[in-house]
Amino acid sequence: MPSAEIITIGTELLLGEIQDTNTHHIARVLRNAGIDLYRTTTVGDNLERIALVVREAISRSNIIITTGGLGPTVDDPTRQAIAKALNVEVEFRSDLWDQIQTRFMRYGRLPSENNRRQAFIPSGAVPIENLVGTAPSFAAETGNGLLIALPGVPREMEFILENSVMPMLKKRFLLEGIIKTFSIHTSGAGESHIDEKIGDLELLANPTVGLVAYPGLIDIRVTAKAASIDGADKMIAEMVRKIEERVGNAIFGYNETTIEQVVSSQLKKRNLRISVIEYGLDSMLSKRLQNEDVLLEKSLPVENLLTIERGKNVARDLYQKTQPNVVIVAILSPISKEQMDLALFMIIDGHEFEKIRSFGGHRNLAKPWAENTALDFIHKKLQQF
Ligand code: ATP
Ligand code: MG
Repeated sequence: MPSAEIITIGTELLLGEIQDTNTHHIARVLRNAGIDLYRTTTVGDNLERIALVVREAISRSNIIITTGGLGPTVDDPTRQAIAKALNVEVEFRSDLWDQIQTRFMRYGRLPSENNRRQAFIPSGAVPIENLVGTAPSFAAETGNGLLIALPGVPREMEFILENSVMPMLKKRFLLEGIIKTFSIHTSGAGESHIDEKIGDLELLANPTVGLVAYPGLIDIRVTAKAASIDGADKMIAEMVRKIEERVGNAIFGYNETTIEQVVSSQLKKRNLRISVIEYGLDSMLSKRLQNEDVLLEKSLPVENLLTIERGKNVARDLYQKTQPNVVIVAILSPISKEQMDLALFMIIDGHEFEKIRSFGGHRNLAKPWAENTALDFIHKKLQQF
């Protein structure tokens, strides 16, 4: 997979006078083509500094895309700077000069002597015709890949990128094909545990396997690149099977599925109704289950409920009185400055289960972690029971 860098050129960008929308646009186009973007840089209209930045980028990356500084005036130094970075001179290209003159004539204008400057590009570079403006773009070999110089005007840049540059890059770096991503959702297992089980798969080039951690949940993302959708699907299916073999018991769903959906379908399938007693969770556990339409009773007024013992008593009471099929108690409380504990207690058909989990991550993440951990607890117990 080729690596890319974007360099946007223009002192106006550094002064905050215009917003760098070119980087944003190019980044998305590269991502959609499966090209890894490693770095973006903005530099002013200064020959020496542009040359330095370009030289550094060339040494690191296979594809360098610059925008801006291709106009006809002296303060448009990109052509010269790139030539300097490539250790070549700029050379006059009569074919380019013809193109520029033709375009001007089409607009009923005459090119100025300044416009002639634009027919100078780094020696050995290939001109890319600009059908929507007058600033000619060009592509140059870097020894490490390709450098593409595009105009700064977004409309021109976007047109040339789509119609000339991307086809060129696809051919050159064999990027034809499609990319498909598949997500495997796990709960109740730490990142290091999953990593240990599938670490070797994470080193593969295609399909790639990567972990995305959320509080209490880990996604395993499989991305396949192939010539066809069928090909990608086949590669993904094979990889998913391998992952299932290794971490199967942590998996609760795939792609769009959420853990509350899984819990609710477990409950609905068996016609079970659930009551929730929660403390320290901002009623989020109830809300997430309520959204799935399985909640019998929302959290009780439990302002004073701080201990799991009291929680258990309230749960047993509730179980006797209103006879839900399932009662879950979740109490999140700080143990120290660094640690939050989540005490869980569950009654299913008269059987009781309990568990305590600790969280040492950022405080802001403690609540979503507790919600997901509680949902994982319900999910696993319903599976067993
Ligand atoms: P021109 O022939 O128009 O001078 P150029 O290649 O020299 O083309 P610049 O002079 O650098 O391009 O920029 C022309 C205009 O394009 C800027 O005034 C600005 O409005 C816009 N522009 C340049 N760079 C960016 C960028 N990175 N993001 C968004 N707009 C940009
Ligand atoms: Mg300009």
